[in-house]
Amino acid sequence: MSYQNDVALFMKSGEQGVRSELSLEGDQASLYMDLITEEYQETLSAFENSDLIEVADGLADMVWVIMGMCNSCGIDFDSVWQEVKASNMSKFPDGKAIKNEHGKIMKPDSYFKPNIKKVLGFEE
Ligand SMILES: [Mg+2]
Repeated sequence: MSYQNDVALFMKSGEQGVRSELSLEGDQASLYMDLITEEYQETLSAFENSDLIEVADGLADMVWVIMGMCNSCGIDFDSVWQEVKASNMSKFPDGKAIKNEHGKIMKPDSYFKPNIKKVLGFEE
């Protein structure tokens, strides 16, 4: 089970394409970009109205259409997420932030940038 697979099932049921090859081409990717904007706007207005229920609904809808965008473009979201997570966590060697004398969180030597190109298979 994954959010991306749930949305893939929905898309197949709705006769939308679920790509396995990487590409931004096609009307469906544009549609999902529009849906992401729409759901973001709905979530923002729910937040401005202090409507927690609608914020929760909007956040789920946003994840839904973001997964739809990944499926429209052949992006394996989980592998990208794992890379971004590893990069973010590399800021905390031994689970702790390194701060300077002013309390600013510093990037330690262990820090590395996410290599999305590699994760998507564009380089070794
Ligand atoms: Mg919505």
